[in-house]
Amino acid sequence: MTERRVRVRFAPSPTGALHIGGVRTALYNYLFARQHGGDMIFRIEDTDSNRFVPGAEEYILESFKWLGIPFDEGVSFGGEYGPYRQSERREIYKKYVQILLDGDKAYYAFDTPAELDAKRAEIVNFQYDASTRMQMRNSLTLSKEEVDALIDGGNQYVVRFKIEPNEDVHITDLIRGEVVINSSILDDKVLYKSADGLPTYHLANIVDDHLMEISHVIRGEEWLPSAPLHVLLYRAFGWEDSMPAFAHLPLLLKPEGNGKLSKRDGDRLGFPVFPLEWHDPKSGEVSSGYRESGYLPEAVINFLALLGWNPGNDQEIMSMDELVQLFDLSHCSKSGAKFDYKKGIWFNHEYIMMKPDEEIARLFVPVLKEHGVEEPFEKVVAVAGMMKNRVSFVRELWETCSFFFVAPAEYDEKTVKKRWKEYSAQQMTELAEVLAGIEDFSIENQEKIVMNWIAEKGYHTGDIMNAFRLALVGEGKGPHMFDITAIIGREETIARLEKAIEEL
Ligand code: GLU
Repeated sequence: MTERRVRVRFAPSPTGALHIGGVRTALYNYLFARQHGGDMIFRIEDTDSNRFVPGAEEYILESFKWLGIPFDEGVSFGGEYGPYRQSERREIYKKYVQILLDGDKAYYAFDTPAELDAKRAEIVNFQYDASTRMQMRNSLTLSKEEVDALIDGGNQYVVRFKIEPNEDVHITDLIRGEVVINSSILDDKVLYKSADGLPTYHLANIVDDHLMEISHVIRGEEWLPSAPLHVLLYRAFGWEDSMPAFAHLPLLLKPEGNGKLSKRDGDRLGFPVFPLEWHDPKSGEVSSGYRESGYLPEAVINFLALLGWNPGNDQEIMSMDELVQLFDLSHCSKSGAKFDYKKGIWFNHEYIMMKPDEEIARLFVPVLKEHGVEEPFEKVVAVAGMMKNRVSFVRELWETCSFFFVAPAEYDEKTVKKRWKEYSAQQMTELAEVLAGIEDFSIENQEKIVMNWIAEKGYHTGDIMNAFRLALVGEGKGPHMFDITAIIGREETIARLEKAIEEL
């Protein structure tokens, strides 16, 4: 048998913002596809018109653009298996529903909501299945004439899947191994509704996976309970041979305690659960996103890649290309992955350090602007290079290094008490004179001249440097003094010394 071409799909329903778990699912699909030289397809599963949210599809597309996950085919990408939006495939589904009806694998059901409620009241734990279907109003209990008359009369109906009871259904999962469940626990799922002429998720999902020649279904664990039904549908259509391999990814769990990660955890602990900021069109609620919160897309990718998978050693920093090489579905964990958002912050810090100074500077320029600072780009680059290893987010650069751009507005009281001695004003006046005489204001030259001066005068280096720092930075922290002076320049250095002498 020839190897099957790898074709995977990410198939969201446009019901709102894309959850970060969905991003991880898409990422794993992408890594798997690229690793096998296969195709990654973007399909929109929008057959549930009640849950449709305008803007969601665009949001999802923009998210992947930002994250650097490209698709080969699908909505907005084109391809030969289209249309890729399920609402545009009605006629296709109708045909396949008919095939199941004709093959006696499905049946019409006319039970009204009231009738169903009555049955639920009558039978404890009522389930529409082999044990109850013969008590219901459907094409198995009604005559052909009655059925035709009901349909011709414009009565609403659904088509239900006729599940044979007491059969073991085997699902081979690349992560979980063999999962066996008995068909008796399944109900006769609705596959199609005449009310809107649309199939339900299950039918559309299977028909499309088949027609689009999907080889691997990689999706969240929450879809595992649907898998037996999906296997039975493949069988009912006679498509066993082209059934995709399944891989159900572990759930993302709360950072602390038990249970599934929720948006509320994010709100409570202050981290986003969406890739981009989301403005809910109905409620008007705005939810934070990784992009707007200052995360680098590479950091988000790296962080997510390790939620449920690891390369088998303790390597943590991996580029997308490395992930493509190392990723292995069979090394995904079965148990849920704790969403350690602090690790996400750590990744961001690591990626900020790895990024070229120019790139960090470019991200820092708008932050500076917010603070009314506009300075030559080279200066921003120099500061970014010197300070980026101290922050986890670019915007934090302002708190750590505003003194490069503006003189301290005040002096930290404690530091003043400790570092500004009675003789400091005198010493700083002299230092200002020394600095004024330095032509070549490079770090090395300043350091040489100032150190010589200190030695000549017999001053204490600590006294000088501490007071100097206080005058320039306003507190006792910051990088090497001459790194600072070389960047802010002679004029500004002297001006700040004079200001401190006057004010302290
Ligand atoms: N439309 C489903 C979702 O929203 C797709 C599930 C699947 O991948 O089969 O996740």
